Amino acid sequence: MDTDNFRDHISTVSDEGKRVWVHPHKPKGRYNTYRQIVAFILISLMFGLPFVSVSGRPLFLFDIINRKFYLFGVGFWPQDFHIFLFMMISLLLFIILFTVIFGRIWCGWACPQTIFMEMVFRKIEYWIEGDARQQIKLNAEPNNPTKFFKKSLKHGIFIILSWMITNSLLAWIVGIDELFKIMTEPISEHTGGFVAMLFFTGFLYWVYASFREQICTLVCPYGRLQGVLLDEKSILVHYDFLRGEPRTKKKTEGGDCIDCHHCVDVCPTGIDIRNGTQLECINCTACMDACDSIMTKIKKPTGLIRYASFNGIKNGVEKIFNARTIGYSAILLILLSLVTFFLTTRQPIEATILRTPGSTFQKMADGQISNLFNVQIANKTFDEVTPTIVLKNPSHGKIRTITSDMIVKPEGLLQTAFFVYLSPEKIQHVATPLEFEVLVGEKLIQTVRSSFISPGIK
Ligand code: SF4
Ligand code: SF4
Repeated sequence: MDTDNFRDHISTVSDEGKRVWVHPHKPKGRYNTYRQIVAFILISLMFGLPFVSVSGRPLFLFDIINRKFYLFGVGFWPQDFHIFLFMMISLLLFIILFTVIFGRIWCGWACPQTIFMEMVFRKIEYWIEGDARQQIKLNAEPNNPTKFFKKSLKHGIFIILSWMITNSLLAWIVGIDELFKIMTEPISEHTGGFVAMLFFTGFLYWVYASFREQICTLVCPYGRLQGVLLDEKSILVHYDFLRGEPRTKKKTEGGDCIDCHHCVDVCPTGIDIRNGTQLECINCTACMDACDSIMTKIKKPTGLIRYASFNGIKNGVEKIFNARTIGYSAILLILLSLVTFFLTTRQPIEATILRTPGSTFQKMADGQISNLFNVQIANKTFDEVTPTIVLKNPSHGKIRTITSDMIVKPEGLLQTAFFVYLSPEKIQHVATPLEFEVLVGEKLIQTVRSSFISPGIK
């Protein structure tokens, strides 16, 4: 039953276009407890994982600046970009599939914005300023020492927490050692890192102290996509309108909803879930807990607001799998197979050999013709290697490297050049196909093809 003009504007904007500040009541209940446990695990992982290393390498690192990535202790290079791309596409599809079936579970249970806002910053606010009514009262009070103390304490803790979260995020990007250097060495040596730290601390403080749920309703692209991802079969936080309506304050008449407004009071985005699925709903389950406690009090079955699909409520049957979800699952499986294939066939040492740009052939004093080639060897292993390059075809050709030994450091990149010499009487084309073999010891690592240019056939 539509009871409001909720379709015309979002709940946190007034008719005059002003921000409506949401003061949700403190949530309590079993779902809140489960979410607290999940939040605790995820926050611990976020702060703890950057400290974990495997054989001296980070377990996870997303070093965008130096284009080095570690996933589960395995280093990924720019040359592995196709694997990374497939992994990202698979992840995106997984999120889409998951959203189609289970709605905004991510938003309510795993999104860092919701976790930090509802499970950390909001809790500190409740602890210092009290529940919603006390907060409203405190805000309405004229300035006084108690108000000043509470507000300063809250915002002081918010700033410290924002700084800690920023540091944790930086640790995922620059690594824990580099972060430690930024924190301990003179600012002048890490101006960029220091400015980033200040900026993100300020940004996060603004988000959690002021912008809050507006991130979910106005900014987050995932939130905005819900309209195209969800349908009447998606499992979401739903109000059972068949059971609840007509709502009445008399417990013995009408539906089970006694219009107590508790579900609205606890909502951190300020909506009334009884109006149906709305863009603002982050599926935080606070209204489910609130309504369950009311149902328990009035001795009615819990679950008037529950995880269900619109069709499930309408028909009384939950059917999770349909043609669309099966189709998405098949695509996901194909992508996962491709990622596994790329990961298992990934080259630990990768060579790129190209004729030096802008160079041409040279005639040597002994009559031979030479071409200059650039070689780039990426060692993705954690051991030092000394590769050799052999000219496989044509077998009469010779190679002369310009460095005496080709040592590539662990996780290092060697860039050097070499000459290829061919006898003119054996050249049959202007561009002779070349085949190089890159070996480490006796082991063939890679076969690389290129071409040799010459004046032509004699
Ligand atoms: S409607 Fe319920 S689940 Fe949705 S945001 Fe509000 S309290 Fe959370
Ligand atoms: S908490 Fe339950 S009973 Fe109270 S208004 Fe919301 S849906 Fe109705």
